[in-house]
Amino acid sequence: MAVAEKRIILKYADEPGYTPDITCYMKHGGYQRLKKALGMKPEDIVNEVADSGVRGRGGAGFPMGMKMRFLDRKSGKPIYLVCNADESEPGTFKDRQIIHKDPHQLIEGLMITAYAIQAAQAFIYIRGEMYQGARMLETAIEEARAKGFTGANIGGSNYSCEIVVHRGAGAYICGEETGLLESLEGKRPYPRIKPPFFPAVLGLYQCPTLVNNVETICNVKHIVDMGGKEYAKIGRPNNTGTRIWSVSGHVKRPGYYEFECGALTYGELIYDVCGGIRDGHKLKAVIPGGSSSKILRAGERFKGKNKDGSEFDWGIEDIPLDFDGPMAAGSMSGSGAVIVMDDSTDMVEAMANINAFYAHESCGQCTPCREGSLWLRKITSRMCAGGARAEDADLLKSVADQMAGRTICAFGEAASWPVQSFIAKFKDEFVAKAQQAGNASKAPTGRGFRLIG
Ligand code: SF4
Repeated sequence: MAVAEKRIILKYADEPGYTPDITCYMKHGGYQRLKKALGMKPEDIVNEVADSGVRGRGGAGFPMGMKMRFLDRKSGKPIYLVCNADESEPGTFKDRQIIHKDPHQLIEGLMITAYAIQAAQAFIYIRGEMYQGARMLETAIEEARAKGFTGANIGGSNYSCEIVVHRGAGAYICGEETGLLESLEGKRPYPRIKPPFFPAVLGLYQCPTLVNNVETICNVKHIVDMGGKEYAKIGRPNNTGTRIWSVSGHVKRPGYYEFECGALTYGELIYDVCGGIRDGHKLKAVIPGGSSSKILRAGERFKGKNKDGSEFDWGIEDIPLDFDGPMAAGSMSGSGAVIVMDDSTDMVEAMANINAFYAHESCGQCTPCREGSLWLRKITSRMCAGGARAEDADLLKSVADQMAGRTICAFGEAASWPVQSFIAKFKDEFVAKAQQAGNASKAPTGRGFRLIG
């Protein structure tokens, strides 16, 4: 029997009759936690968030409380809060559910967080394509302002904070926090080098800045409600709270689901919750956390030691659905986007699709990424157009290996990890493509590589 969802963030989102306006939100207890928070000391809220252990839901999984504590308060500069709503990792479609169905939950979480770090200005940086979401957030902010929950003297207190919704222009790299900040400043979204440009010290306008994802910020409201230690009892150590998973691909019931971290496995998610693989097919592979995470092959075993010293020996189906499970299996939970592939999937085609995305989205600032992502796309495009060669699998790996760890931002890894893992686990299919093309035994072309397609 399927493990039941534990909906905290999406508690009301799909409830019949629940609407995104402030009247409905307040009927369901909305803005009560903001009032509670305003009666607390800001540093106590930061401590509650740290006690909760809540980790970022946008991709990196960094503890939010630690980020808040890293903020440079000695500089005397203003502190900014930025909500990253640039949801664009392929396979991810969770933050937009919150924005469309329960925008005031985000506004309330944002205001509590802003108060906790004493920011007088907050931004929501939303992906350009999410036009409707941006309009809905602007409407929600106006409603909140009319009720005194944003703007001057929030809730009758001495604390004031404005929120601005800023629409991006549809670039994936704006989801990278320093690229986002550059864009917010009105510049090209070229990611900044870390160090020294850690947002907690040198963020927006070179001021201390907290950047967190939509789902992460919504959690703050619930942490204030139940207390950090109580919140930390949900999930398992280092994997606290719930997470929303976007499931797509060859399952019978794709969609978004919210579960307590670690309450079920990838197998239970795929077979019990999502109804299993399409009829007549078998599981072939899973991308466990968005297209930049390393692919996992059906039938492979993942072995290692748990933190308590005990050993694990998992197949995909046994991996805990949380932060640390996919990490232990050599991949990551990323943005919570689970992409399921059945045995009808052509892995070279899938790779070509992913490579086309990253080649298009590279900001072009550094050579290994700009050139490498382009070559990855060209090689896999040629392979799919009937021009596969025997050396292509090794060539792809070689290009990817020269990108990872040699770039300004993590995009270099995001583009190379899929290639490295596809080649490591499905090299047979890349070799077979060359055999189908009749090029299996041909020698490499030598200097350079002639590209077709
Ligand atoms: Fe831009 Fe890619 Fe370099 Fe990141 S790694 S700064 S996306 S060129």
